[in-house]
Amino acid sequence: MGKRVLITGAAGFLGSHLCDRFIKEGYEVIGMDNLITGDLKNIEHLFRLERFDFYHHDVTRFVHVPGKLDYILHFASPASPIDYLKIPIQTLKVGALGVHNLLGLAKEKGARILIASTSEVYGDPLVHPQSESYFGNVNTISPRGVYDEAKRFQESMTMAYHRFHGLETRIARIFNTYGPRMRLNDGRVIPAFMGQALRGENLTVFGDGTQTRSFCYVDDQIEGIYRLLLSDYSLPVNIGNPEEITIKEFAEEILGLTGAEQKIVYKPLPEDDPLQRQPDITKAREILGWEPRVGRAEGMRKTFDYFKTLSEEELKKKEHRDFSTRNRR
Ligand code: NAD
Ligand code: UDP
Repeated sequence: MGKRVLITGAAGFLGSHLCDRFIKEGYEVIGMDNLITGDLKNIEHLFRLERFDFYHHDVTRFVHVPGKLDYILHFASPASPIDYLKIPIQTLKVGALGVHNLLGLAKEKGARILIASTSEVYGDPLVHPQSESYFGNVNTISPRGVYDEAKRFQESMTMAYHRFHGLETRIARIFNTYGPRMRLNDGRVIPAFMGQALRGENLTVFGDGTQTRSFCYVDDQIEGIYRLLLSDYSLPVNIGNPEEITIKEFAEEILGLTGAEQKIVYKPLPEDDPLQRQPDITKAREILGWEPRVGRAEGMRKTFDYFKTLSEEELKKKEHRDFSTRNRR
């Protein structure tokens, strides 16, 4: 019998690419998602496959999966600032209760578990670039705190299961990743700028645009995560692209790529928006033999080609999410 893997957040951006990768590698894949920010469109091509199954389930509730499991990848969580500001309590719960349920499931099944952590654990970093040994500069009570603290708790809980129960655990600290299947209106900077360019609107740079980010193409990210899962290393590993750019320069690059004639307009910087972010990927290079291969120009072109395939109607939708009262708990 082949290996069986559970992927939470399967209908989301990274989760759906992970499902594709594990199917390609010959695994039996169970995708789990409550569709709060994800979309079944991202995985609908997998439904006809015998090796794929989908559970519509909220991982903050008890998680039951019949049969054996070899690996679990916990990717369920709102991930864009717009999403986690709208559903702060859900965000805290999926990091805290969700990870507890999945660690319990991993223990029960004797499965290895990899959790999706984030560069946000470094907060607004005072050390640059960020290496795994830096403990971060995080504001617990800022609006972003719901995401950052959930992810920090998630790391602590994972290490506790590793140390106390001897569970096989992996922690990926993921830096800003982009590519096809991002939601056009999730508010993250790449879909925001590309959507604006396609709609003929001005590009909104927050603050003075001197803040930096380092963007990793999705194929590179998935390769890094895959290698980390199969490695024997249980401490956190940064997975990201160290090519750093200011947001203002980035907006100019997007206008060059899209050929749009719009201008850049400046809007207030959101509270606690980190000023700089760049992964130190020495560990990933040494332990996983991994480094990104896709440069920004190529990755952005592929991503823009994807957004160009969206319909007029999808392009115009500002926000189609109904974060109903039921989901606010
Ligand atoms: P996404 O919003 O596209 O996907 C998240 C998925 O999780 C969605 O399909 C959503 O419906 C699902 N989900 C949320 N809460 C759930 C719950 N309680 N039960 C079941 N499913 C639930 O976001 P993404 O960019 O694909 O991010 C995936 C993971 O990677 C997240 O954990 C995120 O924190 C992490 N991450 C992503 C990035 C990035 O740049 N994309 C960076 C750092 C970390
Ligand atoms: N940003 C921006 N204009 C937008 C959306 C985002 O200037 O329309 C900025 C945002 O303030 C941040 C950077 O782009 O400095 C990256 O934002 P994103 O939400 O993509 O990710 P994160 O802040 O979590 O890194």
